[in-house]
Amino acid sequence: MAQEESAKAKTQVRVVVRNVGLMLSGDLNQPILDADTIVVLDGKIASVGKQKDIDTEGATLVIDARGVTVAPGLIDSHVHPVAGDWTPRQNQLGWIDSYLHGGVTSMISAGEVHTPGRPKDVVGLKAMAIFAQRAFQAFRPGGVRIHAGAPVIEQGMVEEDFKDLAAAGVRMLGEVGLGSVKDGATARQMVAWARKHGIQSTIHTGGPSIPGSSLIDKDIVLAADADVIGHINGGHTALPDDQITALCEKSTRAIEIVHNGNERAGLLALRTAGELKQWHRVILGTDSPAGSGVQPLGIVRLIAMLSSLGDVPAEVAICFATGNTAKIRNQNCGLIAAGRDATFVFMDKAQHSAGATFLKSIAAGDLPGIGMVMIDGVVAAQRSRNTPPATRVPEIV
Ligand SMILES: [Zn+2]
Repeated sequence: MAQEESAKAKTQVRVVVRNVGLMLSGDLNQPILDADTIVVLDGKIASVGKQKDIDTEGATLVIDARGVTVAPGLIDSHVHPVAGDWTPRQNQLGWIDSYLHGGVTSMISAGEVHTPGRPKDVVGLKAMAIFAQRAFQAFRPGGVRIHAGAPVIEQGMVEEDFKDLAAAGVRMLGEVGLGSVKDGATARQMVAWARKHGIQSTIHTGGPSIPGSSLIDKDIVLAADADVIGHINGGHTALPDDQITALCEKSTRAIEIVHNGNERAGLLALRTAGELKQWHRVILGTDSPAGSGVQPLGIVRLIAMLSSLGDVPAEVAICFATGNTAKIRNQNCGLIAAGRDATFVFMDKAQHSAGATFLKSIAAGDLPGIGMVMIDGVVAAQRSRNTPPATRVPEIV
């Protein structure tokens, strides 16, 4: 037994991240931690604190953060993956790997809706969802975790279909409203069946995104009562202001702001959530790939936009894309805390940013420079090929 235990100890991967200048937790209740060191054991955070208080012996890998900021890896709450690392929407390859270089370590599908010839019959849409769930569970470009297999509900589905999907491992619906179900009552029934069987839901909000999609207004969103008010700022066409504020006020569901939406409407939703003291409902996505393309820096652009124009501290805006999303989407990443996935983004202010510090550079509207990304305790990328260059970058010792 003792022998077995020592053999196990030998195969453990122990990573020490030290010399962190600023530790951002991802947790709205305490966005900044008084800590400079993280110890990782087999891909999970074992401890976080001051180096002098933590046992950092026996590391198999040491990262010297060289004073940069460490935050949880960013979560894109709204993507439309199709197959592997290819998107037919703009016919691009390698888009997910490119988002990794924008600090995104986890993505949530809002439906594999760009699949050429996407089946709309019930058997076909179920099969496609199960296939996507399996394929993306097994395939992680650059290490990025993709939660896919999000069927778009169609007329004619019955409770048994949701039960089947859940039993097959499907955990969320694609955007309600992109299929033939466009009325509040039917959507509400199907969303409730999904929820009963442990499947989360999100709804398209606003005008049609592309030819073939349609308007979903506030009354349909409220009636459907999906778990996430998907792109409350439209994708791109937003609802009138009074409908956006009504959604914030009358629903308790997540308020998702997307990069591919109306930016002014996004700021309105953010401000309304703030007035309601409900920042915990705000989550961020890109809603890409889409008509406006692939946006590797979409999430950091949103963080900088909301912080600089929405008067939200940068460390809070980062919580929207990390801890908030993890909580609402039931993920084990998104927070720097013991037991969580050792999935981090190392950032510093971009070279020549006018902001005096990392946080001030974002509050001034500049993008952060990413110097390293770690996923499940493994270095997934070093200096980003996509962000402006970070002033300082971490080093593998
Ligand atoms: Zn949409």
